[in-house]
Amino acid sequence: MLVYIDGKLVEKAEATVSVFDHGLLYGDGVFEGIRSYSRRVFRLRAHLERLYDSARTIMLKVPLSAEELEAAVLETLRVNKLDDAYVRVIVTRGPGDLGLDPRKCTAPTVIIIADKIQLYPKELYEKGITVVTAVTRAKHPEILNAKLKSLNYLNNILAKIEAVNAGAAEALMLSEEGYVAECSGDNIFLVKKNSVVAPPAYLGALEGITKAAVAELARGMGLDAREEPFTRHDIYNADECFLTGTAAEVVPVTSVDGRQIGGGRAGDVTKRLAAALRKLALSEGTPY
Ligand code: PMP
Repeated sequence: MLVYIDGKLVEKAEATVSVFDHGLLYGDGVFEGIRSYSRRVFRLRAHLERLYDSARTIMLKVPLSAEELEAAVLETLRVNKLDDAYVRVIVTRGPGDLGLDPRKCTAPTVIIIADKIQLYPKELYEKGITVVTAVTRAKHPEILNAKLKSLNYLNNILAKIEAVNAGAAEALMLSEEGYVAECSGDNIFLVKKNSVVAPPAYLGALEGITKAAVAELARGMGLDAREEPFTRHDIYNADECFLTGTAAEVVPVTSVDGRQIGGGRAGDVTKRLAAALRKLALSEGTPY
């Protein structure tokens, strides 16, 4: 496997960063997870836009233009001969000293890793996954804005640990006020009658690229796709519930905090949206 690091494609074993890199020392950096399907990258521009927006917020200057970074992503996929891949783009603050001051870091590190995709086991797309509510809350915008996809994932990891300890696949995270925000690594939707509802990002959810695509597809099916705050009560009483994410795509949720959702199997709307997303990913995207 060849990994892109600071302009070079090197063997995995040689793809290393300094122990003084603030990405390692402080989680000071930004990243994206991107998918390709049959040699087409899904919504690459949207992912890169989100990366540059995140970098701008943390005052990190990405040393490549968006066009150069796009070309580097495509080249990394080509040299690794991957048809279907998961791509991780990381820009860290780069090496500095042991203090926090980012001005000491003069050369951001740019890394692109392209690897095989990791999905939930296939049967879970039919059976659905189990979710439990975590005590760990979603990111409050004045602590760390959830729209900012930074290398600081500890609160999501703490929530994930809670899920693992409870034997669940995912952790549901609530906003400070107790509204549903998102899961530790995916956005959440509920389906009730003709409505397909996701929480607004201001509650502490990432503006998911898969979430936006699924909402467009739902509207195309004549469903009322909208964003609005809702509570766990609304999930417990939903017809269907599903998660969206670049790696997970559309994954049904059939149990939340011990309550069976819908019929305890992947619901009809969930299955239609999952199929439509796959079809969309195969029909659009940046070729390489
Ligand atoms: N929320 C969080 C916390 C995530 O890390 C991700 C990405 N894995 C998502 C939502 C889904 O976003 P996207 O559809 O852009 O992958």
